[in-house]
Amino acid sequence: MAYEEIDFDIVVVGCGVAGTSAALAAAEAAKEQNKFLNIVVLERTSYENRGGNSRDTAAYLRMEDETKVADNFVEEMLEFSGGRSDEAYIRTLSEKAGETIAWVKDKGVEFDYLPTLFLTSNRPRLLPVGGGRAIIDQLAKRAEQLDVQIAYHSSAWRLGVGEDGTIDEIWIRDDEGIATKVKTKAIILASGGFQGNPEMMTRYVGKDAYKIPTIADGGLSDKGEGLQMTLDIGGKSAGQLDTIHAEPSDPRSNRGDAAIMTYPYGVLVDSAGNRFVDEGISTIDEQYEAVARRIFDLPDHIAYVITDQKLFNIPNYENALQTEKQPIEADSIAELAEKINIPKEQLVKTIEEYNAAVQPGGFDPTQLDGKKTKGLSPEKSNWAIPIDEAPYVCYPIHCSNVFTYGGVATDTQGRVLSNDDHPIPGLYAAGELTGLYHGKYPGGTSVLRGLVYGRIAGTEAVNYVSSKGKVKV
Ligand SMILES: Cc1cc2nc3c(=O)[nH]c(=O)nc-3n(C[C@H](O)[C@H](O)[C@H](O)COP(=O)(O)OP(=O)(O)OC[C@H]3O[C@@H](n4cnc5c(N)ncnc54)[C@H](O)[C@@H]3O)c2cc1C
Repeated sequence: MAYEEIDFDIVVVGCGVAGTSAALAAAEAAKEQNKFLNIVVLERTSYENRGGNSRDTAAYLRMEDETKVADNFVEEMLEFSGGRSDEAYIRTLSEKAGETIAWVKDKGVEFDYLPTLFLTSNRPRLLPVGGGRAIIDQLAKRAEQLDVQIAYHSSAWRLGVGEDGTIDEIWIRDDEGIATKVKTKAIILASGGFQGNPEMMTRYVGKDAYKIPTIADGGLSDKGEGLQMTLDIGGKSAGQLDTIHAEPSDPRSNRGDAAIMTYPYGVLVDSAGNRFVDEGISTIDEQYEAVARRIFDLPDHIAYVITDQKLFNIPNYENALQTEKQPIEADSIAELAEKINIPKEQLVKTIEEYNAAVQPGGFDPTQLDGKKTKGLSPEKSNWAIPIDEAPYVCYPIHCSNVFTYGGVATDTQGRVLSNDDHPIPGLYAAGELTGLYHGKYPGGTSVLRGLVYGRIAGTEAVNYVSSKGKVKV
């Protein structure tokens, strides 16, 4: 035999919020049923690097408080997707959010309303103290206390299906490329999106998409095997495969999540010196994704935020500048243009026209203030104040990939669906790997759904294994 073969009752793939939630929920459900089940989490990376996107996120949760989701949660998620997201999935997410946060809290994670990088916001956002890393560490620790094993340096790449169509094995490779076949009764895929796979980025998102850097290094661990393995056995995809959740960030930064969210208080120009978006169209949390995508659509994928010294009077402005790099400053717009290598006549003209179009009214950086421009194309709808207090301040800004939208289709029990919409017996999925979003991302929902559906999938996988592999449809 060229490969080793080992047995587990339940295999979880991925050690992010979804995988740790699934593993712990499975271990707890087994204990409650007085069953000893061998549960393993397969993780591509090391202990230090585990957790993909989860380890880099502050993990805002779209919740009013610890017990309930924000107002209009279901309606907005459906509206943002143009009615394409699965309503039943979202309703279950909404219903189970409060009890899931209580469960996570019970494992030792604190939640609070900490400062965010959004100076204006449409929805409240609760945060775990210590971010996604704290969630992973606590849930993984509790799972290990219940005898769950975590196998590092183990990348899953192929699913095995028995003659009756039930899932019965998964293949992994270690860092030397040596394969192992794991025999199992149920698998929970929680391996994140495909932002770390240039081939899949090109295949699904399109031309040049492989050039979009991940917002943080953790996303590079998510290489799309979960989706590929599922499609290979006749599983169904869901979510908008050809787009990503995007964020504007500083291309010069070496830091994870070097977001730049100050552009609503100035103007955004392309490398020809022209404005191209309404920088004040809505609260920042509701528009940064669309703006980041527009920046990627520019021929050279880069833009510049131009503001002046008034930026530094805005309360908490530094929260909206997550980069460690200093701004580029100059005493005149022409000099600034030279420093950033864009045509100075055009940039001067753009700023002069913008300043002349600013309408009277009170400026309030903390909410939509209706202070707008008149006569520009595009107009600016809020926070239009003149750029006239030198030194002028500029940050370069590009589009980063937070995560991919498309993934596998699951039902409200976390079961992976076939192309005929039947659950594939023994196969579950949760988190970013599951396709949900279309159009516009409803902020603060990705970690939440990872936790909620990870927990559901873990519990359901135990019920399935306990019922000896018979799947109830
Ligand atoms: C900087 C940043 C900020 C964010 N902010 C927010 C926010 O405020 N609110 C929010 O809700 N969401 C936010 N997100 C998104 C959110 O963090 C992720 O969508 C979520 O954490 C994904 O969790 P997951 O468990 O599904 O996947 P991940 O956390 O990516 O975990 C996947 C795990 O699977 C492992 N893996 C991958 N492939 C394999 C394989 N083949 N075999 C074995 N292991 C594998 C990876 O190494 C990783 O450990 C943010 C993301 C980033 C990067």
